[in-house]
Amino acid sequence: MTHTTKTPVQQLCDTLHLTAQEVQTLKVDGNSPFPLKISNDFFAQIQPKQPNDPLLKQILPLQIEHQVAKGFSQDPVSDLTFNPTPSLIHKYHGRVLLIASPKCDIHCRYCFRRHFPYSEQSNTRHWQKALAYIQQDKSIHEVILSGGDPMSLTEKSLVSLIQKIEAIPHVKTLRIHSRTPVISPSTAPANTFLEWATQTRLNKVLVVHCNHANELSHQTETLFLRYKVAGFHLLNQSVLLKGVNDQVEALETLSHALFKQGVLPYYLNQLDRVQGAAHFEVTDDTAIKLHTQLRERLPGYLLPKLVQDLQQATYKSPLISSSI
Ligand code: SF4
Repeated sequence: MTHTTKTPVQQLCDTLHLTAQEVQTLKVDGNSPFPLKISNDFFAQIQPKQPNDPLLKQILPLQIEHQVAKGFSQDPVSDLTFNPTPSLIHKYHGRVLLIASPKCDIHCRYCFRRHFPYSEQSNTRHWQKALAYIQQDKSIHEVILSGGDPMSLTEKSLVSLIQKIEAIPHVKTLRIHSRTPVISPSTAPANTFLEWATQTRLNKVLVVHCNHANELSHQTETLFLRYKVAGFHLLNQSVLLKGVNDQVEALETLSHALFKQGVLPYYLNQLDRVQGAAHFEVTDDTAIKLHTQLRERLPGYLLPKLVQDLQQATYKSPLISSSI
């Protein structure tokens, strides 16, 4: 008699009460090198018995990810071309991006850093060199913590890192890019971190990452309020994803839901063309049409900018019609 152990992907499908037929139709991948990873809070927001749930689609590994797609690459935004020292990306004028953590509490299937060489690039041993680089370049006024997810660090490590950044006089603004407050509000930094935040001289911006209104909950609302009270400007960036949020109603609902929780929509990113994520791509024409429809429905302050990250551009480029 042979025993077959179910993979975490199959276990997830079982827990969500997907039928064998539904799982077969989805063509799930139980052995992806970028494996299934999901936080408890995010799991709780997924609707059971819904193979097309917009949250499930973001985290379920599929066999289609193995198809090599033309025009897609392992480093779609040229991170490694603008990498003066390990863990630091200096692409934008006056700002640097520090890969503070290699880890996330979730694996988003469309992640543009899913092939990023974290083992070479993201380690606390690189911080000293990265901080020395920031120290010697007085044009750098803003440090962006990214990852992985910087909020996956322990609060102690996170605060220790940002205190070192704060000690550099020409740095005026700390920006944190994190999906943790949305996908894991119950574990997001909120104690030592918020004590630091209420005392710092730095301007503080927190850019969260939410793609669908179903990701938001009472827990996210409570957490966002705490960050706001501590002085953070709260913004959101989303990625436009086929089958997840490529309907004007979904995007409109998301903007209103974010605003209700004190967060302003900032960017709607066209998908970065990373290998494994081609099935999420919405054409530029469709993206522009959707954004125009969204503009007709929303007040200006709730309309995210539709942008793309072009490989050699040193700024986020607006997505505009090639026929204009
Ligand atoms: S949270 Fe961000 S960095 Fe982490 S897997 Fe998702 S998209 Fe990638």
